[in-house]
Amino acid sequence: MDIRRNYSLLEHNTFGMDVYADCYVEYGSPHELLQVIEMAAKGDLPYPLEHIGGGSNILFTGNFHGTILKSGIRDMDYIENMEFFSEDCGVCRMRIGAGVVWDDLCRYCAENDMWGIENLALIPGQVGGAIVQNIGAYGAEIAGTVESVEAVSLATGETKIFDRASCGFGYRDSAFKHELAGWAVTYVVFRFHEKSEPDINYGELRKVLSGMKGCIADEMDLDSLTPMDVRNAVVKIRRSKLPDPAVLGSAGSFFKNPLADASLVDRIRLEYPDVPAFAGKDGAYKLSAAWLIDKCGWKGYNRPASAVSENESIPESVKDVENAKSEKQAGQVELSGAGCYEKQPLVIVNNGNAEPSDIMQLADAVRDSVKRKFGIELVPEVKYI
Ligand SMILES: Cc1cc2nc3c(=O)[nH]c(=O)nc-3n(C[C@H](O)[C@H](O)[C@H](O)COP(=O)(O)OP(=O)(O)OC[C@H]3O[C@@H](n4cnc5c(N)ncnc54)[C@H](O)[C@@H]3O)c2cc1C
Repeated sequence: MDIRRNYSLLEHNTFGMDVYADCYVEYGSPHELLQVIEMAAKGDLPYPLEHIGGGSNILFTGNFHGTILKSGIRDMDYIENMEFFSEDCGVCRMRIGAGVVWDDLCRYCAENDMWGIENLALIPGQVGGAIVQNIGAYGAEIAGTVESVEAVSLATGETKIFDRASCGFGYRDSAFKHELAGWAVTYVVFRFHEKSEPDINYGELRKVLSGMKGCIADEMDLDSLTPMDVRNAVVKIRRSKLPDPAVLGSAGSFFKNPLADASLVDRIRLEYPDVPAFAGKDGAYKLSAAWLIDKCGWKGYNRPASAVSENESIPESVKDVENAKSEKQAGQVELSGAGCYEKQPLVIVNNGNAEPSDIMQLADAVRDSVKRKFGIELVPEVKYI
């Protein structure tokens, strides 16, 4: 167990916020986690206890007064001594520690021809965080491969196994954000498949894959594809579109894609006939948060760090945003504060010297302008701590 006091969290959040925790503990097993819970109960570690993973979907809003917990449970085991696939069902079950780096698991599966999570390649963070968020990309969600989740209550030390239905998975959501908040995920049992119909119909995936395989997109022989082929295509697309957290701080998509009713979508269509809107089961439409933000002009907008921008107001209308962008491009101001990524405006970035307040201020301004222009309330996907 690794216990640190007055510890910088800079290496533990992809936004690159250099804030401090009164205490930070990385535990290596469920047994060590129980010891941590006991120590806190005795007053040897400060409350509150806040669990993080790879820190890729959180924003520290300042120094943290309490104890930050992180899982170092990194076992990866086949269940029932069943290496690879049982002959009768073509399914392989693995029990994976919550502290395993998510993309290490994705790579392992691709290398061993196990289908299930190839579309989710290169998403930052750990297995535990991926469960809490129910990560998704290119038409897939982690929920599709989960059999059960083991967790420990941080309040009582009770250990429980939750089957998939009890995990309450939804769009970037799970019971671990609601009724099971306060439970630390320790292990996840996954079901991977020996054979699968690759799901490559989302975005540019089919096109990029066919380019990599040297065939025509509509004529691609799906049976010849391997999980590694799909992984390689996903990695290629993601690298071309999303910032690498090691280079440019961010937490990926800052907001969730919102739902809107048909009448609101019709009103937006009057001005923007091409608004992307995907009909859901219950009559609601899912809109693209990135598209809405882009239409408010934010794509490529960057601010100086707070020290420089103290007296500079944040733009309010689309026109203000556009003016601010052209003024800044013309001037020699160092734009090292918060910004909206030039290739994907849904990603708020730290251009080097942003403080938590810079990120929050820009996120508020983006949310307010979308509300004013479209009447839609964006909800952050990122958790503020
Ligand atoms: C460049 C970039 C691209 C991204 N792309 C995607 C994408 O395509 N799709 C997507 O869905 N997400 C994406 N994300 C967001 C993020 O990577 C995922 O949400 C990720 O699963 C978060 O995992 P984490 O381990 O970093 O968790 P953290 O960000 O540290 O925590 C997230 C939540 O999980 C909780 N948590 C973490 N570990 C545990 C645990 N063991 N037990 C209990 N609670 C825990 C935390 O309390 C918090 O509520 C992206 C992020 C970045 C920076």
